[in-house]
Amino acid sequence: MIKAVRGVRDLLPSETRHWQRVEHAARRVFEVYGYREIRVPIFERTELFAKGIGDETDIVKKEMYTFEDRGGESLTLRPEATAGVLRAYIENGFHVEPKPVRLYTMGPMFRYERPQAGRYRQFHQANVEALGETHPALDAEVIAMLMDFFGALGLAGQLELQVNSIGDRESRGIFVARLVEYLRPHRDELCGECRARIDRNPLRVLDCKVPSCQPIIEKAPSILEALSPEAAEHFDSVRSRLDAMALPHTVNPRLVRGLDYYVRTTFEVLTTALGAQNAVAGGGRYDGLIAHLGGPPDPGIGFAIGLERVVLLLGDQAGAAAPLALLIPLGDAALDRLLPAARRARQRGIRVEIGYGQRRLPRELERANRLGAPWAVIAGDDELANGEALLREMQSGEQRRVALDGLADELVRLAALSDGTALRP
Ligand code: AMP
Repeated sequence: MIKAVRGVRDLLPSETRHWQRVEHAARRVFEVYGYREIRVPIFERTELFAKGIGDETDIVKKEMYTFEDRGGESLTLRPEATAGVLRAYIENGFHVEPKPVRLYTMGPMFRYERPQAGRYRQFHQANVEALGETHPALDAEVIAMLMDFFGALGLAGQLELQVNSIGDRESRGIFVARLVEYLRPHRDELCGECRARIDRNPLRVLDCKVPSCQPIIEKAPSILEALSPEAAEHFDSVRSRLDAMALPHTVNPRLVRGLDYYVRTTFEVLTTALGAQNAVAGGGRYDGLIAHLGGPPDPGIGFAIGLERVVLLLGDQAGAAAPLALLIPLGDAALDRLLPAARRARQRGIRVEIGYGQRRLPRELERANRLGAPWAVIAGDDELANGEALLREMQSGEQRRVALDGLADELVRLAALSDGTALRP
């Protein structure tokens, strides 16, 4: 038997309903904020990611699925979405549109990481980019939209929003020099990764999770003390606008994130519910990146939501995919009458299932229970003679007669009375 590749999984019908709900919430919230969907390729030229993410990042150094195609060109399965969206922005001349240009996309990403719960080699993100505007109000608005997405799924209460500023390019350069100076004497006490990072990507030492590194990281200089006056003002302004929108947040001066091109605002949404994989979403400002990729000098800010982790958080709360009713015809003649009634209900958005008249009533009722349907509609010869069916409330077993002609109306009424779970998302 040929099995799926390690770290790559099927999303089975029992899960896809949760996925649809998450994707639906994302689209609805993003579009209310004026974002439009863009779909970019799953693979790009390798150099786009090397340039857009940074040669010294973990992603580019260790995690990319890179291959040569038959023409000898080096291609890479996208490990994140921003580089591809910015390439499309530049290539399609989006920069002439009114700013900020607001784009979102959703789909699979690929990273060669060590698989574990909540971490896969093919995973999915929803990504948002707002391009062409530096105002700190945009940073706050983007973060508010992210939290509204979690709010729409009822998850906001169990998540923590962390924010930071890593300064502009100049002040960051000064800080990095100071950080390296602090870290060098402690080199031997750091983990192997961090020892290498001192030379390659010193900021990343700050978000190392290895326990033995923590005492050194805790005493490291704070990036917030090294901000230029402009970067400090920008950060204060973002924070006061988050406050004005009543968005609770904590400042984490060690939140540096993985991309080389982040400047100023960075943020992450964390949970305590998923063990080690505690980041559900993250993002930041990347002014200068569009120009670096050969485009106009437009600034940008964006974020990525890890959809696997959102679905995990939803857990059972996403609700079983129960139909509102099982329609049970007892025999062929009844099937002929119930099939059109089922169709009318479905055309009005009501989820029903139907039997085909071959099983006995007790077995069909058992099936209604297993499906979790709150109602059953039973039609045998007696009822049919009067143009009626029996409507049975599964929990109480109570039954009453309903006219077959009015069955779809009755189901619509019952759906409106229930909590809506039997309706289409
Ligand atoms: P990043 O682009 O690394 O900032 O990731 C953004 C979000 O994507 C993270 O907060 C995670 O929720 C999710 N994510 C990143 N890598 C993986 C992975 N290998 N498997 C599942 N989710 C991931």
